[in-house]
Amino acid sequence: MHCPFCGTHDTKVTDSRLVAEGDQVRRRRQCVACGERFTTYETAELVMPRVIKGDGSRESFDEQKLRAGMLRALEKRPVSAESIEAAVQRIRQTLRARGEREIHARDIGEEVMHALKRLDQVAYIRFASVYRRFQDIDEFRAEIDRLAQEPSFRPDEPRD
Ligand SMILES: [Zn+2]
Repeated sequence: MHCPFCGTHDTKVTDSRLVAEGDQVRRRRQCVACGERFTTYETAELVMPRVIKGDGSRESFDEQKLRAGMLRALEKRPVSAESIEAAVQRIRQTLRARGEREIHARDIGEEVMHALKRLDQVAYIRFASVYRRFQDIDEFRAEIDRLAQEPSFRPDEPRD
């Protein structure tokens, strides 16, 4: 790397360590010509796949939008901000791990539902009812019944 002080092409690394919980490498460098020291930070460039929407148009992956959708479903639910953030990061990792350049919006929706199901069943139902656009109350009830078959389901809101 070039020296930012004198422009010499050759600088040497004097120290290298992991920072930001291992997501970054900090390197101390020294110019072999003028002797100036400086620091560089190295971070992996994490490229998210593009999103294919229902109408076939494409847009950039939007983490804020993903988080906002989850927060809406989780409103007033007993789930910590930390757990939500961890879930958002897990979804990001899952989507990136597919190694595809483009990904369908519905696949992201499925990942969100999967995550909400683990976080909070009520939030999951809220999200699923909007996302899957339940046609009528019977369809909605069928999903609730299906959930009730799962051992992890603990309804904690009164149902009539
Ligand atoms: Zn220099």
